[in-house]
Amino acid sequence: MEEIVCKFGGSSLASAEQIRKVWHIIESDPNRRYVVVSAPGKANPGETKITDLLINLASAVTNHFEGQHYIDLVAQKFGQIARDLGLEKDYEVLVRQDLNDRIEKYKNNSQALMNALKAAGEDNNAKLVADFFKKQGLPAIYVSPAEAGFYLENHKGVVRCLPDSYDNLREYLLERHELVVFPGFFGYDKEGNILTFTRGGSDVTGSLLAASVQADRYENFTDVDCVYAVKPDLVPNPHPIKEMTYDEMRELAYTGFNILHEDALEPVRRHNIPLHILNTNNPGGMGTIIVNRRTDFDGILTGISGKKGFCVLHVEKYLMNQEVGFAMDVLKIIADYNVPFEHMPSGIDSLSIIFREEVLTPDKERLIVNRILKELEVDACYVTHELAIIMAVGVAMKNAVGVLSRAVSALSAAGINIELVVQGPSEISILFGIKSTLCNYAIRELYKAFFNR
Ligand code: ASP
Repeated sequence: MEEIVCKFGGSSLASAEQIRKVWHIIESDPNRRYVVVSAPGKANPGETKITDLLINLASAVTNHFEGQHYIDLVAQKFGQIARDLGLEKDYEVLVRQDLNDRIEKYKNNSQALMNALKAAGEDNNAKLVADFFKKQGLPAIYVSPAEAGFYLENHKGVVRCLPDSYDNLREYLLERHELVVFPGFFGYDKEGNILTFTRGGSDVTGSLLAASVQADRYENFTDVDCVYAVKPDLVPNPHPIKEMTYDEMRELAYTGFNILHEDALEPVRRHNIPLHILNTNNPGGMGTIIVNRRTDFDGILTGISGKKGFCVLHVEKYLMNQEVGFAMDVLKIIADYNVPFEHMPSGIDSLSIIFREEVLTPDKERLIVNRILKELEVDACYVTHELAIIMAVGVAMKNAVGVLSRAVSALSAAGINIELVVQGPSEISILFGIKSTLCNYAIRELYKAFFNR
């Protein structure tokens, strides 16, 4: 018997109709033993996600605005879903009470209040889904992250899982013989305070659970059939990816593939657990399997992604390659202003450092450039803005000849000036820096060149 952890995102749980689909998926395979849920998302484009309503509620309470409107909207949404599912409990009353209790408990601590209210979406939804499964005859139980010992910590502003959570979850969950419904997105610190991951963090909970119980598979149900070779809004009928590696997904996610939370890959990758992306609205579809080692290759490139919002610091100094510690001195100056960088391609007499625009603010840029000019006696130091990064990704390129030249030819034939190019040491991706305005055009041209469509 296999053990499968399934995670369902907000769109999969946005209405009674969607939750019925989830139930069908679960009851169709007894190996699906652990179900991680998000808060209800939008049932139609005009709606607001429950998590957004809860964030607005927390801000309203903190700023002494009227928050009742948000409480009503959240409670009514849960009430409606529960009634449509034929549940006996009055979720409208229960959720209203729960939100008021959280506000009462944390009203004097705005950060704790924000976390507690954000978590209420997933927490109440897990209870509701477990109730519905029970009503349908499945032996389901809601498991609270507190009782299962799902501990997190806030490390310099980044919420992450504490190592003992793995054992705690494993021990607790393996003793449950029922179908476990577990809320995503939050856990507790050792003092008992609620902590939440960043947005979309239920993916991370699912991955951590899968790693803890050493599941055979982590199924992440969303509202797309699979991962495509480019974002589907860029080209008609994009090439579907049947299989890819975690590393390929990570590279593509870095520049814009937002299918999964970026921290969701690491726990399953480390435990070698295949991650299957599937569509709740088409569960029989092939989906995309993400694994450590691929066996299925249907082209040199796996995917192409791109993202705007980068800038480059250029440093030029004749005989730079002979100067010991030069790059370190540059990086030291940058670190003095607490600015993280993304990539650092270099030549013998020049160095380029790529940043996200939002971290290199104009004042920091001025201070850094001035110090490099003054302290390091360089020939030139300046920043160019409005750069997009395009990533051409594929593990198969490692053993293929001419991938870079094919990509460069495609871009040059399209009249796109390449401002910089980097091939990472792992040789699974090539990065191109180009003008932001050409980002989508470049992705389409590369797609044509490699996927022949
Ligand atoms: N509900 C949270 C969000 O909207 C977390 C999640 O859905 O994964 O970001």
